[in-house]
Amino acid sequence: MQPIKHLKCLLCGHEYGPEEVRYVCPKHGNEGILDVQYDYDLIASTFSQNDLNRSTEDSLWRYRPLLPVASDTPVPPLKVGWTPLYSSHRLAGLLGIKNLWVKDETREPTGSLKDRASVMAIMKAQENSAEVITTASTGNAAAALSGLCASIQLPNVIFVPASAPEAKIAQLMVYGSTVLLVEGTYDDAFDLCLESAQVYGWYIRNTAYNPYMTEGKKTVLYEIYEQLEWEGPDVIIVPVGDGCIIGGIHKGLKDLFALGWIRKMPRLIGVQASGSASLCQAWEKGLDPSEIKPIEVKTIADSMAAGLPRDRIKAMRAVRETGGAFVIVTDEEILQAIPTLARGCGVFAEPAGASSLAGLFKAIQTGLVRPEERIVILATGSGLKDISSAMQATGKPKRIQASLKAVQAALDNGLFLYKK
Ligand SMILES: *Cc1c(COP(=O)(O)O)cnc(C)c1O
Ligand SMILES: [Zn+2]
Repeated sequence: MQPIKHLKCLLCGHEYGPEEVRYVCPKHGNEGILDVQYDYDLIASTFSQNDLNRSTEDSLWRYRPLLPVASDTPVPPLKVGWTPLYSSHRLAGLLGIKNLWVKDETREPTGSLKDRASVMAIMKAQENSAEVITTASTGNAAAALSGLCASIQLPNVIFVPASAPEAKIAQLMVYGSTVLLVEGTYDDAFDLCLESAQVYGWYIRNTAYNPYMTEGKKTVLYEIYEQLEWEGPDVIIVPVGDGCIIGGIHKGLKDLFALGWIRKMPRLIGVQASGSASLCQAWEKGLDPSEIKPIEVKTIADSMAAGLPRDRIKAMRAVRETGGAFVIVTDEEILQAIPTLARGCGVFAEPAGASSLAGLFKAIQTGLVRPEERIVILATGSGLKDISSAMQATGKPKRIQASLKAVQAALDNGLFLYKK
């Protein structure tokens, strides 16, 4: 079964058959991002919540009937999805709210939510009989593609800005990708990737260019609802760079609505870093996303640095159509959130991954969320990907001489205990 009805251009609304176009609307070029549209009646005729209750599949493939892939495309061996959703009373208490859950995407095979999108790229590359696949990335999308390609030995070429954190570059090298460190920004890497792919005929994974990336990311939303036994949250707080994750979450919600599995939309709150906040600023001014101009970005949260958010149309719709909001957090607030999240619930996230907690603080302070509401925050990527930022937040540990006397002296200065 192929559940795709058509691919619809976000700009002109033109609908294409899935075989007709591969990436973007031919009339609008790179700006003509497509939305994958489904035949929900067909899906509902073969797939129900009962099927999910009975499913033993512990990956995102438990939602295969809702994904845009042919039934005979082989699934790569790395397990993506079905990550834990932790209820955290300690963090909730700290924030003065009742119910808080943390979706732990640090547990994905390459350490970030990007694995959900990259696995979709691998499926589509196989369906297109691609011999090589490529992407541009601030780091995590590349690491995800790199790891998944290694698992099926698919050659791949990765364009990353030379400023990407070393741990993410190490992942690419270890997995055996062809890595091109671009002297320039993510946006430069993006353009160079597209240009090269056209010359060499590679399959392209790029966010907001390849329409199937949103479809992979939406699975995190399905999981949140299933894990909450379909009693959804009031608010979901999402870090935003290009806007593909928040757009994917909105897409997941629309799917569940169309199937009649949920009846109430949660509000989606997008978190942006103060040095990369063009979507938030446009939202505050009530601008159309097409009016957003590229800005020069500066933030410690490299994974959410986007001079011109590529998925700005989907991201803006996600916030506006759910009655949500954008909030801005500073690098200082993001850094502080890393140990707060780790000590509060045991999840160690990279700066972008912890920014959702910083955003929740801000949303509570500004009255965007109320204490009695049910809140989910996304921890989108692992803290091990950027240990220098983490250490910037915590400082260095005590150094002592190898003697019990030195241990005693150090303990005299106080022992760290969790408050009961
Ligand atoms: C990519 C990424 C984001 C931002 O996602 P967008 O789809 O670009 O908005 C946030 N956190 C982490 C860890 C990421 O890798
Ligand atoms: Zn178009």
